[in-house]
Amino acid sequence: ARAAVAAASTGPGRTADGHPVALLVNVGTVEQARAAGAVESEGVGLFRTEFLFLDRRTAPTVEEQVASYTAVFEAFAGRRVVLRTLDAGADKPMPFVTLSEEPNPALGVRGLRTAQRSPEVLADQLTAVARAAEQTGADVRVMAPMVATPAEAVGFAALAREHGIGTVGVMVEVPAAALRARAVLAGVDFVSLGTNDLTQYAMAADREAGDLAELLDPWQPALLDLVASTGAAGEELGKPVGVCGEAASDPLLALVLVGLGVSSLSMAPGALPAVRHALGAHTREQCRELARLARAADDAAGAKEAVRAAAAPEV
Ligand code: PEP
Ligand code: MG
Repeated sequence: ARAAVAAASTGPGRTADGHPVALLVNVGTVEQARAAGAVESEGVGLFRTEFLFLDRRTAPTVEEQVASYTAVFEAFAGRRVVLRTLDAGADKPMPFVTLSEEPNPALGVRGLRTAQRSPEVLADQLTAVARAAEQTGADVRVMAPMVATPAEAVGFAALAREHGIGTVGVMVEVPAAALRARAVLAGVDFVSLGTNDLTQYAMAADREAGDLAELLDPWQPALLDLVASTGAAGEELGKPVGVCGEAASDPLLALVLVGLGVSSLSMAPGALPAVRHALGAHTREQCRELARLARAADDAAGAKEAVRAAAAPEV
């Protein structure tokens, strides 16, 4: 047993029965990427690009973007990097793409929706990504935030492919996209669940509102149902479904996510060893059983309790 646990503390993510689950990191600046590049991981599951766009009056130039993206891709040469296109709006207003006065910014023109009015910003970003990818040895993929419909997913995939980017996905962080995950996934190569926003929108609870923490608990069975719908679509179509929200960094919840059909987990670098360890201590079938227990609960606390009681004691 000691040997098995030691083996699970390092190397690529695997369940106890050898089913691969890619363990990836979230990064949001060049400095974070350089630091995270030194940590053992299979790459970046969420490269947030807002840092380049915030606190300025105009969008960064293509050249400026190429320089930053190249630095991040170089830190992960030989590994995958999933770059998320600009997620402007809501808590990240940017004068060159977002409306100044929206009554409900979280439900407004944010994420991919901003490309309707400012298509040149997204086009420039994809141009920069393609150029930076050409110059480095990373396996670069892109995904769009705040996709609600299959048509939006198809439109984004077509645009990214026009720019020469081979692997294209979208985030599933709007309940509509999770409910219709099969149709969304049909138009792209992969999806990644953004559980922070998916919880906010499923529970109608502002993710910044501390008073609503109980509703925003990622163990909410309603959130798990949306993950299940997405995971089932991925298994049916044979396409990867990742998680890049905070939920992926909770070792017990990570087991549940894998049991729901999730094939990669992206998190803060510091969370990786514990998640790797938890996975290595459970077979995929055990993860499926934990997922069944969680979804059978009536509330978040009950789901967590049931999984804690049934999981290996060291998790
Ligand atoms: C999410 O919504 O879960 C996510 C990963 O994106 P962000 O936290 O940047 O909105
Ligand atoms: Mg989000």
